[in-house]
Amino acid sequence: MLRFHRFGYQSALASVYLAAIGIFFLASSTSIDCHATESTPMSTTTPTTPPSTASAPPATTIPFIRKKPDFGGEACLTMVLQNKGLPIDQDWVFNHAGVDPTQGRGCVTRELAKVAQATGLEIGPVWYDANTEAEIKLCWKHLLRDIVNGTPAVVVTHDAQNIERFVLVLGYDATKDQLIYHNPNVDGGQSQTVDRVTFINRSLLTAQNQQGQPTQQIVALRTGGDINNNRLPAPTNQKYTDADYAQHIRQLKNRLPNDDFKIVLQKPFVVVGDSGIDDVKQTATGTVKWAVDKIKQDYFSKDPEFIIDVWLFKDPTSYKKHNVKLFGNVPDTPYGFYSPSDRALVMDISTGGGTLVHEIVHPFMETNFGRCPSWFNEGLASLYEQSSTRNGHIIGLTNWRLRGLKGTISAGRLPSFETLCNTTTRQFYNDAGTNYAQARYLCYYLQEAGMLVDYYHAFRKNSINDPGGYETLKQILKRDDIKTFQKEWEQYVMKLRF
Ligand SMILES: [Zn+2]
Repeated sequence: MLRFHRFGYQSALASVYLAAIGIFFLASSTSIDCHATESTPMSTTTPTTPPSTASAPPATTIPFIRKKPDFGGEACLTMVLQNKGLPIDQDWVFNHAGVDPTQGRGCVTRELAKVAQATGLEIGPVWYDANTEAEIKLCWKHLLRDIVNGTPAVVVTHDAQNIERFVLVLGYDATKDQLIYHNPNVDGGQSQTVDRVTFINRSLLTAQNQQGQPTQQIVALRTGGDINNNRLPAPTNQKYTDADYAQHIRQLKNRLPNDDFKIVLQKPFVVVGDSGIDDVKQTATGTVKWAVDKIKQDYFSKDPEFIIDVWLFKDPTSYKKHNVKLFGNVPDTPYGFYSPSDRALVMDISTGGGTLVHEIVHPFMETNFGRCPSWFNEGLASLYEQSSTRNGHIIGLTNWRLRGLKGTISAGRLPSFETLCNTTTRQFYNDAGTNYAQARYLCYYLQEAGMLVDYYHAFRKNSINDPGGYETLKQILKRDDIKTFQKEWEQYVMKLRF
């Protein structure tokens, strides 16, 4: 299906390389008249062998860039733009192409062409009909004329497996009849050479025309013209850009257990679930976005350090089965958890969104208050397991943890706040009793007294000198006698209802 016929070629341009190309084409052409559309006069010399003056072109100064996965077009365009003095990278190209990152792929030609044009490049027709020898010849005549004159072309080629790849053709060696190109798809792909005929053959792509019929095309972007900085969008200062999300989602797609899993980008998280796209979208906006907006409003200025996936499994069966498959273990909670090492929040979403809001607090705490002790990290996170808004701010409501706490208070077995504040991570999590509840309802009390947000910020600021937050608690409460305060707090808790 993919074929190549040698074709005649002639031009009056002065370049020795171009002359050499013309010589070759004349020597190998047998029957095709290619000059019908020529506007330049025909050469008056018609030698039948390459002249001895033909020589290899000078080494290119165009930088070589190895592509990120699936960013071959982005890498090619970046090489050109950097060579023209634009200090951008392949992520920048992707980010200005308007591609939805949830597709988990790099730019296709039309998207790449859009970015190239936005920079001011003159890219030419891009899609060239190549169903006849004359069409193939005409296309490559123009491309080679540019290339020899120092204007590279981004060309889509197919490899031996028929996978389409972008490469940047930047020179022609007349002595060997070889094209020189940067191949961003492989390590060491700088200034590769290939027999011209072979390369042109690789540039013939099979496509469908508007009637759905198979057609043959050459797809190539010229890179002429000057960069127009006025047209370029301003750079962003986001930690992760769409390019990062596209790369992340590309990898995530390869890990999906089955086709039921759908991906929704809800920055800074990537939400993935198997309860249907509408349901995943609903949770992404109704719970994830809501919670992120609300906790950032009062507490956190920085997003999590890494891109974190939110896995929403539709039921206990899916939750258990896929935990083993994806993370290699059976979870020790039926609701959900945050795994920093897997960079994942993992939920059985059929148990409700409360745990999800709880877990969302943890990666934010990690980035914004890395020294936060477990008691306050879990106290604040569990406060929002049952949450609502008041005056536009997130608030925690009473919940199921109240009952056990009341029992421990009644039994006179609740540790002091001084003990709670000084628990190590191990001590806090080893408790089978009411550490979570005690921490939660201390936070609840501070919230209802209008002190919780102030406490968080003061604690964070003082944490080097007061790592457990006990002294800061005294300051916020304006109380030295925390034992007496605790008695009052216990009476307060005993009157709470759920
Ligand atoms: Zn937690």
